[in-house]
Amino acid sequence: MKEGHTKDHAALADDFNQDEPRVNWHDETLWFIREKRDRAAFAIPDWEMLRETASQIKFHTLSNLSQYLEQFEANAKANGITVHWAADAEEHNQIVHSILTKNGVTQMVKSKSMLTEECHLNDYLEQNGIEVIDSDLGERIVQLAKEPPSHIVLPCIHLKKEEIGDIFHQHLGTEAGMSNPQVLTETARQHLRETFLTRKAALTGVNFAIAETGEFVVCTNEGNADMGAHLADVHVASMGIEKLIPKREHLGVFLRLLTRSATGQPITTYSSHFKKPRPGHDIHIVLVDNGRSVQLGREDFRNSLKCIRCGACMNTCPVYRRSGGHSYQSAVAGPIGSILAPNLDMKKHADLPFASTLCGSCSNVCPVKIDIHNQLYKWRQVIVKEGYADPTKTMGMKAMNMVLSSPKTFKLSGKAGRWFMKTVPFLVSNKMNPWYKQREMPQPPKESFGEWYRKNRKTNE
Ligand code: SF4
Repeated sequence: MKEGHTKDHAALADDFNQDEPRVNWHDETLWFIREKRDRAAFAIPDWEMLRETASQIKFHTLSNLSQYLEQFEANAKANGITVHWAADAEEHNQIVHSILTKNGVTQMVKSKSMLTEECHLNDYLEQNGIEVIDSDLGERIVQLAKEPPSHIVLPCIHLKKEEIGDIFHQHLGTEAGMSNPQVLTETARQHLRETFLTRKAALTGVNFAIAETGEFVVCTNEGNADMGAHLADVHVASMGIEKLIPKREHLGVFLRLLTRSATGQPITTYSSHFKKPRPGHDIHIVLVDNGRSVQLGREDFRNSLKCIRCGACMNTCPVYRRSGGHSYQSAVAGPIGSILAPNLDMKKHADLPFASTLCGSCSNVCPVKIDIHNQLYKWRQVIVKEGYADPTKTMGMKAMNMVLSSPKTFKLSGKAGRWFMKTVPFLVSNKMNPWYKQREMPQPPKESFGEWYRKNRKTNE
């Protein structure tokens, strides 16, 4: 088990797996979205060309990141936006807090932003006496349930509608047992309308920031970022420094890829451009590093910064689908989260790169062509080398290495194994051996393939 954590990914996945119908439902729901993504992607003939173009634009931007960041800052300032720089999560939270304090704000409405999850902004602000209401419906549901999101695009995908009905009954006064999605959505709409009308400050994430124009683009399906930003006097946008693209003409490439990959829709319902504050209105943008420049310096993992947070790698990942997002204990879960999290804290997240079958499905669906499974494999090597791997696995691998590197030991171990399985099977097939949890003990063969081959070859000669 890891320091500061109660359980690692495998143990938490085990907990999730206790409720088999829920696991099957979670698995099937995400696969349904993966299939929708396939239909949307294959419907446009230039899909592969779009992926390649997006990947190259991102590669170019990351290779010249400091230059584009400076260009963005200069243009945003010229537009009247206040630009802040945050080296880490703490600094980001302090900046947001100081903006709110200066404006006398004690209540803020927030649209979905995984960066603020990464920085634990809600907890920080609440500890400092500022109430935050998440306005994305899924985010609001997990906020009321006092849980973190389990998916970057579908934050409450782990909850069934009946459970959401119970949460709404408890917090928003709906009828007990009411689980009609239409009624629940209408209730949330009324509740959020009141929030939008009364909050003086709104925080949004940033999907794309354009260096050439100093503007940023926020994509939502519910229009909640716009409602918050337009009705409040102060708009704070939190942005990871990797969200930049050089020119406005590049935006179309990413907008065509983003929602097709995420939910199988042709385009996000609202792609809102924020360029300059209207009179009497303030826009602040906080450019956050929080480990991104370190990752940029790790050549093997640099490509992970191309991520546009579509969630497609999670929807397709057989491990994510059957272990649930909370088992990753990281703001970004699933395959890409398992690459990003060890960069922030290698020791704490050393288990995540091992939470993969390395089947490559994540890399196949990624709209910006990140070599996700290769990076997971590379992280494993770094983690073992740095001494953060699970000690039992390390011992097992060493023993395996000893057996497989000596033909004599290999033959002897095979013989011993067959004897044990036949004579004292309970020593192998028991609760201590996780391999047998969902498996039947196979019948041990009478002889090894080598022995069989030697015998039969002699007969045939
Ligand atoms: S790694 Fe690729 S597939 Fe996964 S969320 Fe990022 S862009 Fe989407």
